[in-house]
Amino acid sequence: MTFRTRFAPSPTGPLHLGHAYSALIAHDLARSKNGKFFLRLDDIDQTRSRAHWADQITSDLSWLGITWDGPIWSQNTRSKAYSKALHRLWDMGLLYPCTCSRADIKVAASAPQEGAAISGPDGIIYPGTCRGVPKIEFQTNAALRLNIKKALQQIETEDIKFFENDVPYHQSDTQMIATIGDVVLARKNMDTSYHLSIVVDDAEQGITDVIRGEDLREATYIHVLLQKLLGLRTPNYIHHRLIRDENAKRLAKRDDARAISKFREDGLTIQDIYALVGLEPRT
Ligand code: GLU
Ligand code: ZN
Repeated sequence: MTFRTRFAPSPTGPLHLGHAYSALIAHDLARSKNGKFFLRLDDIDQTRSRAHWADQITSDLSWLGITWDGPIWSQNTRSKAYSKALHRLWDMGLLYPCTCSRADIKVAASAPQEGAAISGPDGIIYPGTCRGVPKIEFQTNAALRLNIKKALQQIETEDIKFFENDVPYHQSDTQMIATIGDVVLARKNMDTSYHLSIVVDDAEQGITDVIRGEDLREATYIHVLLQKLLGLRTPNYIHHRLIRDENAKRLAKRDDARAISKFREDGLTIQDIYALVGLEPRT
């Protein structure tokens, strides 16, 4: 099977060293294996995505010597595919509308009987306030959440497993329910969310290896669950370490001092970037 991977940045800010690290690993691995490397813009959030950031990202990637196969995919143009997957999950009875605000969730999750609110891949674990609403017509004027307990009952295996460089990672049903909870699969007035669109696109592009930061390992459990529910192949996952600043803090989008464009302006070379992220220089 041809090795196929991708880089899926959100055009909501500049590329920084952490992104460059991810893109370089994925790209160089694909090239060394005569595989494919795709570029996909994670731009479903149109309130935050900007065309000028997309331009800056492609320019920075090209400067890094990164080439991609085929056209750049924009998730913003893919709503039909996401909607199909969403309807499928709805028809399986696994989704329910949720009208809670962030503040509502915070209050409900910290109610005395709930104990301390715990965080999952998407922030505070949803306390389940809207889970019991009677089944109504499909609608997207509210967020749609995945009933994770029900979803886990639908799949045959006992737990969610994926492989990373031959090392199995797995989580039991009870752990998934406790540490992930009912995640949002469609945001209000949208027919998708990060989790759903990434899974649909990885499958459609035939991605064999997903390479991304270890901050997304928990999200991977959701992605593997969605693949099982939708009958999609689970790729191999590689979660790399995160690039941190001098204070061991993860780099953030707003951290302009580490933007690739800034390094370019300052006259650094590609080899300097390899050294900065701790990669062997490209030969
Ligand atoms: N846009 C996401 C990010 O930059 C993509 C992550 C992924 O590859 O799944 O975090
Ligand atoms: Zn709710």
